[in-house]
Amino acid sequence: MLQECKKRGITVLRPAVLNDVDLKTHKSVLHITFNGKSIDIETRWFIDASGNFRYVKKKLKWNDQKITLNTGAITAHFTNLPPQSAWDREGTSYWNKNAIGAKANSTTHFLKPHSWWWLIKLDESTTSIGVVYDKNNIKFSDAESYFNQSIKEDKLLYKITKNAKRSELNHFNSLPYVCTKMHKDNVAVIGDAGSFIDPLFSPGMELICQQNEYLITLLLDYFKTDRKDIKAWERYEKQFVNTYLDRVFVYSKLYHFMHSYDLFSNATQLLFFGYQSFAVLPLKYFHGRIKNPRSFQILDRVVIKWVFNRFSKISVKRKQQNRQSFSLKQPLIYSRVGIPNGIFYVLKPVQLALLWLTNYIKIEATEGYYILKSTCLRVLQKRQ
Ligand SMILES: Cc1cc2nc3c(=O)[nH]c(=O)nc-3n(C[C@H](O)[C@H](O)[C@H](O)COP(=O)(O)OP(=O)(O)OC[C@H]3O[C@@H](n4cnc5c(N)ncnc54)[C@H](O)[C@@H]3O)c2cc1C
Repeated sequence: MLQECKKRGITVLRPAVLNDVDLKTHKSVLHITFNGKSIDIETRWFIDASGNFRYVKKKLKWNDQKITLNTGAITAHFTNLPPQSAWDREGTSYWNKNAIGAKANSTTHFLKPHSWWWLIKLDESTTSIGVVYDKNNIKFSDAESYFNQSIKEDKLLYKITKNAKRSELNHFNSLPYVCTKMHKDNVAVIGDAGSFIDPLFSPGMELICQQNEYLITLLLDYFKTDRKDIKAWERYEKQFVNTYLDRVFVYSKLYHFMHSYDLFSNATQLLFFGYQSFAVLPLKYFHGRIKNPRSFQILDRVVIKWVFNRFSKISVKRKQQNRQSFSLKQPLIYSRVGIPNGIFYVLKPVQLALLWLTNYIKIEATEGYYILKSTCLRVLQKRQ
């Protein structure tokens, strides 16, 4: 990507460290160390992409939104792990036919009550293993012992790591953040420098690419007209902040039932139906929409809120009644999102909606059957 940038006339300084910035309304001066030398660069725009260093947010003392998602993360690098074939299930024929990468290089997720673990092979010798946990429900005083104990209690994670060497732990006490601002004068933030939610569905890069597309149009307009279109920038900020907040809503609910196979799969089927039908498919004909992130409309919000709240309740009830979730016959087996052609273009949303709906009905039927069965049992017991 950087080579492509260079080809198109961008000056790339690498490796470079930004030591400080004098931010002025229409011009900033960057103080940089490049190749061991200190240099100053004057710039009309400064776009901060410093990730979770959050350079501009800290410098300008911007506030974060108050959000309901309250997660932390612990992670470490492991070496000397057994090969994936020694512990993982065999690849399905669907995977082998459709996946764009080898199974051994894909991220494996372990979904548990109020937390999920990742296993990401970084290179031939090193694997990252980590957990994101909901702090409203999982509390501990020592991250190290929580991490070790959780691995010990999980048969599979224990099997994978028992002979491995582990690095120091990295503990993020608070993972998600959504900045209230995304620009001021001739300064803007992009990517994790502004907001970060949760890496479960890997939405990070997608949203950043959309932000990039949007920022480019705003900046080109600035250089064409020599003025900042304040209204357009406010629209941009509002749209992205709202999208991040929608994701906060989704994740804060998901943590209540992510350990439940059928509830989590069905919730994901609903999200994929919306994402594929209203964000991906329209791109075939409306290319400009690539810069618009998919945020909830009123109907989306009502449906998702209702279903997710319902699943949270079912999950609590099942726990009280000591019941386990059941497997869906058609679990989620997407390996990529594509745009079908011809009649399949129109049928795709219908297929995804039906997939969600039929499985949703199955879940409700199971719950109904349980209530009926336990009521009949109670009546019979009373009669005896
Ligand atoms: C465990 C985990 C798994 C994830 N999995 C996925 C996934 O599968 N798919 C996906 O799309 N997203 C994923 N994400 C999210 C994704 O990684 C991030 O959203 C994305 O990397 C953010 O990009 P960024 O450019 O904003 O920040 P970063 O990738 O953090 O880049 C910021 C860069 O700026 C540099 N920098 C900071 N300060 C300075 C300075 N003063 N001078 C010079 N350089 C500086 C940093 O060194 C860094 O290289 C995951 C995140 C996590 C934590």
